[in-house]
Amino acid sequence: MVEHLPEYIDPLALADKHRQFKGVLPLSKMARMQDVLLHKDGEVTFELKFGKDGKYAVVTGMVEADLVLQCQCCMGPIPWSVRDSVSLAVVASIDEANLLPDSYEPLLLEQGKIPLSDIVQEELLLAVPTIPQHEQCEVSVAKDNKPKPEVSGRPNPFAVLAKLKK
Ligand SMILES: [Zn+2]
Repeated sequence: MVEHLPEYIDPLALADKHRQFKGVLPLSKMARMQDVLLHKDGEVTFELKFGKDGKYAVVTGMVEADLVLQCQCCMGPIPWSVRDSVSLAVVASIDEANLLPDSYEPLLLEQGKIPLSDIVQEELLLAVPTIPQHEQCEVSVAKDNKPKPEVSGRPNPFAVLAKLKK
């Protein structure tokens, strides 16, 4: 089994101590992911390293998950593999977030402690489309010829599907 993970963490204190966490979290803990997920029973593997970069407390590492998103057009499955590196900097306000170097996404910390799962969830939310849709959804092709959602740089969902069917 996985080592015990704290439910709530203090990112600033962990950054001072250069702590690292590795583990697995159920997707069911990711409340804000539920809308885009068709299969809600998967897991997310993650590795988070807390540290300092100049004046910023930063979180780096990896999140990995094999998700099945729900196409918002035909309601069918979209296999979606996430293998993303984490690069977050802790900020106290939106103003501070706007000053961050491009290499970091802001992690807004409004109170001392946040759920560890929130960090993993934030990262997953960055890695999936806000409105998942098949690249060539049969419903949308039949309905109209709107431009396809931007998906460049992401794994082709059909390639992943082909792999799963083997
Ligand atoms: Zn579809």
